Amino acid sequence: MAENVFPLDQSESMFEQEVPGHNRWHPEIPSVANVRPGSDFRMDCREWTDGQVKNTDDANDIRDMDLSRNHVLSGPIAIDGAEPGDILVLDILDMGPHLPESAPEGLAGMGWGYTGIFARENGGGFLTNYFPEAQKAIWDFHGIYATSRHIPGVRFAGIGHPGLFGCAPSHELLAEWNRRERELISRDPARVPPLALPPNQENALLGTLPSSEFDRVAGEACRTVPPREHGGNVDIKNLSRGARCYLPVYVEGAKFSVGDLHFSQGDGEISFCGAIEMGGWIEFGVDLIKGGVAKYGLTNPLFRPGPVEPRYSEFICFEGISVEDGTNYYMDATVAYRRACMNAIEYLAKFGYTSEQAYLLLSAAPIEARFSGMVDIPNACATLYIPTDIFDFDVLPSDAELVTRDLGHQASTT
Ligand code: ZN
Repeated sequence: MAENVFPLDQSESMFEQEVPGHNRWHPEIPSVANVRPGSDFRMDCREWTDGQVKNTDDANDIRDMDLSRNHVLSGPIAIDGAEPGDILVLDILDMGPHLPESAPEGLAGMGWGYTGIFARENGGGFLTNYFPEAQKAIWDFHGIYATSRHIPGVRFAGIGHPGLFGCAPSHELLAEWNRRERELISRDPARVPPLALPPNQENALLGTLPSSEFDRVAGEACRTVPPREHGGNVDIKNLSRGARCYLPVYVEGAKFSVGDLHFSQGDGEISFCGAIEMGGWIEFGVDLIKGGVAKYGLTNPLFRPGPVEPRYSEFICFEGISVEDGTNYYMDATVAYRRACMNAIEYLAKFGYTSEQAYLLLSAAPIEARFSGMVDIPNACATLYIPTDIFDFDVLPSDAELVTRDLGHQASTT
């Protein structure tokens, strides 16, 4: 096993750890370990809300979540010799869920995760106008497979991946993030929730930063919710085991951090709390390309997906266009994808699922999203592909319904 450079006690909050991680981005958060290019290393990760969600049947914990504590990240880790302008090359060698040694009701050694629908008060998800209430599904892990007592008839292999990782921003890049996000918030300052989350000192966790620096740094440090130039909360489901990530370096030592491990996720992570969220561990191989950012013209990270994803070959595909409630939205791919999701939910409801179950399933299962037509004015077309193998029943319209099948039946009986 590779050396664990960020061990955690998973029974304790990130705030209580001997060496705590952080939940904001700032270049001055001190690195807590060093790794050499060419080496492998391991890190433990807390689940992104730091254990606020319990293995229970009600969703009060999702509804009442304190969002100022999220996301708790592991790191920063310094990479020897990394300088601004280099590319940090990270291979995701392996990862897995935390398996509790003691747990109630015979759950010891059994991993679990959850998918939540955020209530409107919490900022909601992709379909909040249709699903304003908090909701939750618990998933049980059976090796690579997940099942849920809250969504019967479904079992699938997870494409595990870290939802959130990246190098620390420079002071200049941090200032740019704050400038443009403040400008965005100012466009509709009364909006609840705001259009972007500004720095928030409440519950800021800044690793081993000296307390004398806390107020200043917490007042500048960016929240972890969006993806940004460095990567961040990218939620790319295909960055699974074997993937290679090329990350821009902005500060001396790179200061790499990771968190928000997902057992599985559908493209779009639509319910916001929406992958199968879990605590766990991850192993990386590390290297550098000196001066790589200029050499390869990188503005954002570059990725090579891994070779061991589950192979789903058969799908049922839903189409959505940029027309909603009688309004034609001009070439709006977000509206088109939302319609594809709603079409899928309405269809799955015909098989006995509640709309909430179907929404949670689309968010957590390995569904594929694609931009289909992006040029045919005035309607963008997005598509959503659900692997049919995840269901233990035939989810396609029945062949027995075909008119010609019916005619054939008549012919044979007259
Ligand atoms: Zn997540």
